[in-house]
Amino acid sequence: MNKLPTPNVNDFGAFTSLSNNPKLASFPQLQSLVGTVQASYAQYMAVNGDPALVLNPPISAAEAKLLKAHYKDPPGDLAHIKEIRDSAEHLVCPMCGSMHCGTLDHYLPKNGYPVFSVFSKNLVPACKCNSKRKETLLGANPGERVLHPYFDYCLGERLVSARFEDLGEVPRVSLVQIAPNTHSHHAAIDFHVQTIVQRSAICKYIADRWSSLYRKPSLVVRAFEKNVQTQVAVRSLLEKELASLDDLHKSKNNWNSVFVSGLLDPTVLAWLAVRLSMPGRIPDSPLV
Ligand SMILES: [Zn+2]
Repeated sequence: MNKLPTPNVNDFGAFTSLSNNPKLASFPQLQSLVGTVQASYAQYMAVNGDPALVLNPPISAAEAKLLKAHYKDPPGDLAHIKEIRDSAEHLVCPMCGSMHCGTLDHYLPKNGYPVFSVFSKNLVPACKCNSKRKETLLGANPGERVLHPYFDYCLGERLVSARFEDLGEVPRVSLVQIAPNTHSHHAAIDFHVQTIVQRSAICKYIADRWSSLYRKPSLVVRAFEKNVQTQVAVRSLLEKELASLDDLHKSKNNWNSVFVSGLLDPTVLAWLAVRLSMPGRIPDSPLV
């Protein structure tokens, strides 16, 4: 999960240019759509892309087909599509926090909302987590919706943490949503975590990280290559590691930060401190 800067694209100009391009098979059919598209883009921006509020004007099946074809194979007028895709491929997934994106998706799905098929503010880099939600956008209760990486600033806050139970070589791993109940976006955050993050491979990833930590602690936290004598020192090293991971990945909800954030739980800290300070322990040996 991550907040992304809103694409700096002149979408009105891009669509006008597209509709006036005589070299395209869609010419001149899209010209009658310019007013509708521009009004829809403006309304989308005015409500921050909230699917409960965005108006979705009907367009003909033929127009929808033309727009989807332009998304799939963008002409020069829509150069932003390739630019957004290429610029974010290697970054943390803004939807689930995995360590790569790999694809460009529509926040409001192009089948249900064809008018936004080529709108830069509706095009979100993501990993395959976004396709697993299919076309789900809203929950049954007020405020429940999928968060929008370009408009929901709360994605820049720490929202989820790993939870470890039955500590040992193979603990039980789950996720906890850590935004307070009073958070203005609590229902949306909760829905987003359940609908997108929980369905990703995050718990398997975190279990693998734990396995590495258990076997050879320095693989996960470099400072654990030496024995650590107190719980206060363990906490301090983990806090430094967490700050460094947040900074490196430019996200507080990337999967590595979610993992380390879970190690700062008092019960886990105490468990780690006992093992890292055990008298006679060979440095960087398994945490038995
Ligand atoms: Zn993802």
